[in-house]
Amino acid sequence: MSIPAASAKATSQHALPSYLNPEHHGPWGIYLQQVDRVTPYLGSLSRWVETLKRPKRALIVDVPIELDNGTMAHFEGYRVQHNTSRGPGKGGVRFHQGVTLSEVMALSAWMSVKNAAVNLPFGGAKGGIRVDPKTLSRGELERLTRRYTSEIGIIIGPTKDIPAPDVNTNEQIMAWMMDTYSMNEGATASGVVTGKPIALGGSLGRREATGRGVYTVGQEAAQHIGLDITKAKIAVQGFGNVGGIAAKLLAQAGATVVAVQDHGGTVYNASGLDVPNLLKHVDEHGSVQGFENAEVLPDEQFWGVDCDILIPAALEQQITAENAHQIRARMVIEGANGPTTPEADDILHERGILVVPDVIANAGGVTVSYFEWVQDFSSFFWSEDDINARLVRIMREAFAAIWQVADENQVSLRTATFIVACTRILQARELRGLYP
Ligand code: NAD
Repeated sequence: MSIPAASAKATSQHALPSYLNPEHHGPWGIYLQQVDRVTPYLGSLSRWVETLKRPKRALIVDVPIELDNGTMAHFEGYRVQHNTSRGPGKGGVRFHQGVTLSEVMALSAWMSVKNAAVNLPFGGAKGGIRVDPKTLSRGELERLTRRYTSEIGIIIGPTKDIPAPDVNTNEQIMAWMMDTYSMNEGATASGVVTGKPIALGGSLGRREATGRGVYTVGQEAAQHIGLDITKAKIAVQGFGNVGGIAAKLLAQAGATVVAVQDHGGTVYNASGLDVPNLLKHVDEHGSVQGFENAEVLPDEQFWGVDCDILIPAALEQQITAENAHQIRARMVIEGANGPTTPEADDILHERGILVVPDVIANAGGVTVSYFEWVQDFSSFFWSEDDINARLVRIMREAFAAIWQVADENQVSLRTATFIVACTRILQARELRGLYP
């Protein structure tokens, strides 16, 4: 039986791709709900909101490598460019066994929001490979990185889309990515990635930038709620680049880091963990497990620890409707991307716990990535003091503007950040118009 033309048209209009369904489970569904919450505040720009609900471009790549034992392994990799209305795509690359297309789509969208929230001239992008890099040798990791870079080479570039480190990727991986892209292009292209080693055009201060940003907005937010950060008790989930540095800076300022959880377990000391020694321990042993001068807590008890500030700095969907009731902190600073589900967000809001959302709290990394990109283009490098001062100024100004929007509209800081960011993205969209 043939379908009449009219109903065929209706079908094509209404059969939405599954990723447009806000009930889509996982990080992308959470992002869609966040966009729905902000839409009423976008005024006439809301007619463009659909543009935020679809990634501009999503590339899935097969990444085959030869393992050290001579056999072949295939890994699935992604690069998603969510929006490029305000500039080239920008966002990290994650190597993790849990990476999915939904996750990378959400992370790319949060990068669009984050970059616009701090007013960087970038769109949002993200990449990843579904792999547990801890199971690979150094040679296998290099081959994986190089093949992935080559596969996504058709859409990345210094003026198109600029990757950076994220979970389980670091300066060395950025160096291999830069080299692979440069070999394929026939010219050294430092600006194709950020978070590179200093010797290859990396920026001073980049490694610490995300943690420093978490610390800076934490300080600003604490002032607003009358909390003295130098006397605060802190619990941190994730003790890598973001959580480790944020904990170090907070401890240096006088705060007491009482609990740290990572993939290996949870350590606790009511009178304060020795953060520099804990960092050293993690460096040597790979996780907090086995650290002396600390109690070991069952992982689920981490959320109920007595503290003033809780910093999730590991993965998405960690604070949920199940554990949000246990949280005793006055403030949650999201070092990780997407650590709080919308249901948990509501519970924390009702309980009067301030949430400083990822899209502003962890924007320090991409801000110094922007500085790195600018320095690479001009081949002129700034001092670390200069970089840190500019970072702190941008973070403080962005936070103040977002606090004001939250206050004026009586909305959460997350919705306020989305209002500021989505307005900027959609203004750019409207000014550029639709091609053709
Ligand atoms: P990382 O690889 O340096 O550290 C990740 C940490 O999370 C490790 O301590 C690991 O043990 C811990 N972890 C992993 N699985 C866990 C689990 N199931 N339970 C508890 N802890 C677990 O990564 P990172 O760069 O610090 O990134 C952490 C988060 O911050 C991610 O959400 C990332 O997207 C976000 N982020 C990173 C940057 C950056 O510049 N690196 C910038 C913005 C946002």
